[in-house]
Amino acid sequence: MEYKLSDIASICGGALHGEDVTVTSVITDSRARAACTDDGALFVAMRGAHHDGHDFIVEMKSRGARAFLTEHEIALSEGCGVVVVDNALEALQLWASHHRATYTGAVVGITGSGGKTVVKERLARLMPEAFRSPRSYNSQLGVALSLLMLKDEKVALIEAGISKPGEMDRLERMIRPDVVLVTSLGAAHQDNFASMEEKTGEKLLLSRDAKRVIFHGASAPQLRGHGFVDATDYVLPDGFSTDFFDRVNAQLIGMFMHEMGLPVPDFATDLERMPSPVHRSHTTVLEVDLEAMAGNLARLRSQLLPRTGVIAMVKASGYGTGDVSVARMLEAEGVDYLAVAFADEGVRLRAGGVTLPIVVLNADEDSFDVMVRHALEPEIYNFRSLEGFAASAEAAGACRYPIHVKLDTGMHRLGFLGSDIDTLTRRLRELGDRLRVATVFSHMAAADDPTQDDFTRMQIDLFERMSGQLEAGLGYGVKRHLANSAGVRFPEARYDFVRPGIGLYVGTSTLKTKIVQIKRLQKGDAVGYGREGRLSRDSVVATIPVGYADGLDRRLGCGNWSMLVCGHPAPTVGRICMDSAMIDITDIAEVSEGDEAVIFSPARGNTPEDMACVLGTINYEVLTSLSQRVKRVYWKR
Ligand SMILES: *Cc1c(COP(=O)(O)O)cnc(C)c1O
Repeated sequence: MEYKLSDIASICGGALHGEDVTVTSVITDSRARAACTDDGALFVAMRGAHHDGHDFIVEMKSRGARAFLTEHEIALSEGCGVVVVDNALEALQLWASHHRATYTGAVVGITGSGGKTVVKERLARLMPEAFRSPRSYNSQLGVALSLLMLKDEKVALIEAGISKPGEMDRLERMIRPDVVLVTSLGAAHQDNFASMEEKTGEKLLLSRDAKRVIFHGASAPQLRGHGFVDATDYVLPDGFSTDFFDRVNAQLIGMFMHEMGLPVPDFATDLERMPSPVHRSHTTVLEVDLEAMAGNLARLRSQLLPRTGVIAMVKASGYGTGDVSVARMLEAEGVDYLAVAFADEGVRLRAGGVTLPIVVLNADEDSFDVMVRHALEPEIYNFRSLEGFAASAEAAGACRYPIHVKLDTGMHRLGFLGSDIDTLTRRLRELGDRLRVATVFSHMAAADDPTQDDFTRMQIDLFERMSGQLEAGLGYGVKRHLANSAGVRFPEARYDFVRPGIGLYVGTSTLKTKIVQIKRLQKGDAVGYGREGRLSRDSVVATIPVGYADGLDRRLGCGNWSMLVCGHPAPTVGRICMDSAMIDITDIAEVSEGDEAVIFSPARGNTPEDMACVLGTINYEVLTSLSQRVKRVYWKR
C-alpha cells in the first residue's frame, strides 16, 4: 500500500498537520523495538487498558518515525506529519475498509470458536500465493492491520474473532468477505452472549453478503441456508487421521478448495506430511522454520560472489534450534562446511548422517582421537593443540589430515599471534605429510558495532598480512575466512568463505505452549510465589507449563514480558516458577484452556531480540538458554 497522509486524513475524517508524508506500513505497537521504523512507517497511537500509545511518540520519533496518527495534536519536527482523529482505532478501521474496497482478489473470511488459525495456516500452505492475516490477527485491530497489508494477491485469507455482541458487524464492514469458512462453533466466550443462538447469529453476520459459506455439519449442525455448503459431504481417504478435529479441518479445507475450483489436496500425502500446528504429545515446543532458515541462507548468498562459500555455524545445537535436522537442511542447501564447538556435537551430526566436512572450533585434546575417527577437522589455535592433534593423526596413521589454523587478530580469545607465524610455518612444514592446512581464519571482535569499524578494518588488514605470510611460508594454497554474520557487510572480509551463525537463525524460531488452566481472580488477590503478582483489578489469569527450568528466565516474571495469546499480548503475572508461569489474559477475547500461548516468535514485539532487550542480553543467549527438555519440531514444505 502507499498512501499520503492527506489521503488518510480525508478517508478517516481527520486533520493533517505538518508534512504530507507518504506511508507504506503501519506500526501500532511501540514495543516493536527492534523492528523499528522503515521509512514509510506510520505510528498509530492506540489507547489500551494498560498503556497509551501517545506516551511513546517521542521515542518513536527518535527511532526515525516521521508519520503519526494520533488522537491529539503533537509537537512536530522537520519533515514529520500527523493526522489527528477522534478515535485512532475507528480511523484505522475506516482506512482498512477503504483499502479493502480497492482490492480486487477474493476475500475469504474465517471465523469460528476454534481452529481458525490452524485452518488458515493450512490453506496458506496449499495456496502459497495467497495473502493471509498474520498469526491470529483476528480482533478489531488485527483485522484492520491485516487488511491494510493487502496488495495484489488473488486470494486473501482473513481471520475474524469476536468476544461480544456488536463486534462482528464492525469486522464484516471491513472484511466484506466473498466466501466465509466457519470452523467449529463451541462454547468459548459464551459468557458475553445470552445464548448459543445469539452467538451463532453474531458469527454469521460475517456472511451476510458472502456468496458462499462453508461450514461443517458435525460441529455446527444449526447452520443451513442459501449458499451454505456442508463440508461433511467431503470424502476423506481411508486411513486419514482418526482425530476428530483433524478430520473436520481436512473436510473444511477439501470442500473449500473444491468450491473455489482450486486443486483439491491429496490428503493421503499432503496433510499427513504437514506437521500439525497443534502438537498433542508435547505441550511446549520450539518450532523451527527450516524454510525461513533456508531463506536466510539464500539472502546471505545473494550478497556474495558466486565463488564465496559458506561455513555454517551449528554450534550449541544450532544456536538452540536443534542440531541434526538443521545440519541436514544446510547440507542439502549446499553449504561448504559446518562448524561446531565441541567434538561430541560433531559426532552427533555424523551419527545423524551428515557427511559434510565439519570443523570443531574448541576441540580439546582429550577428544582428538575421537575426532580423527569421525573425520572431524580441528581448529588449531596454539602449539599445544598443534602437537596434540599431530600425535593423534599419527597414531591413526592419517595422512595430510585437514586442519584449520586460527589467527588472533584482536579478539584475543583463541589463535596464533603475529609473532608466532614464523615458528608456526616452520613446524607445519615439518608436519606436512601428516597435516595439511585446509583453511586459515580469524574472528572479528566487534563487527556488529559500526562505531568500532576502524578496529574491524585493522583486524581485516592484520588478517590479510598474517594469512599471506602463513601461505607464503607453507608454499601451497590455503583458503581464507574471517567474517561472521555481522562481518559480511565488509566485502573485503568475505575471502573464500563466510561464517554466518546468528544470521541463519534470526526469525526462524517460535516457542509455544498451551494454557493448562484459566481462572477468574479478584482485585487484591495475589498470584504465585511470594504473592508478588498483586492484582489491581478483577483479572483472568492463565497458567502455562513452562518455567525457568525450561529456559524461561525468572527476570521475565511480574509483567516484564508478554506472551501472545490469540495474537494479543498477555503479560506475565507474579514470579516465574520452575515448571510453570502465569499470564494475564483479562483483555483477550475467546481464550480457552488448551489454547496456545506464544512465548517468543518472529512477531513484532515478541521476538527473541525483544526478550534479550528486556533481559539486558543478546538474542544468542535467549536461543541457547532453552532447555533440551523443550521438544524441537521442524517446519518445511
Ligand atoms: C560463533 C562463531 C561465528 C558465528 O558468529 P555469528 O555472530 O553468530 O554470525 C563465526 N566464527 C566463529 C569462530 C564463531 O565462534
